[in-house]
Amino acid sequence: MNDGATDNHQDDTSDEQRLLAHRCENGHLNYPAHPACTTCGEPLTETVDLTADTGEVVTWTRATTTPPGVREPNTLAIVEFTVDNASVRVLGGTTDEVEIGQRVVPVFVEQLRDPEQAIRHTDSQSWSGFRFEPETDS
Ligand SMILES: [Zn+2]
Repeated sequence: MNDGATDNHQDDTSDEQRLLAHRCENGHLNYPAHPACTTCGEPLTETVDLTADTGEVVTWTRATTTPPGVREPNTLAIVEFTVDNASVRVLGGTTDEVEIGQRVVPVFVEQLRDPEQAIRHTDSQSWSGFRFEPETDS
């Protein structure tokens, strides 16, 4: 990485830098991807980009003792997104303290954990992902 990656949402954003839900023919949203819809069992045929969307904190927790390489404390939230009258819940870390009902937006993070301290081989997984940031009033 030598190009000073940005965390805003550009059109050339790669799929890795998008928060994608998966939709079946009946309109149910799934996250993450499953072999079939967890609601009706139909194939998941579409992706829905949640990267620029705002979700709502359903609940959250804070882990004060975390595995090697994971920040401490680590605040995690379940965030619900609603798209076309279907909703989907996504578990992820937060950038700040959150409250139930708070509106949050996904922000891409290059390194969610420290690969140097990983238990598994560092090439065996992706280190990037999303955290949820409280929406600012604007
Ligand atoms: Zn379905």
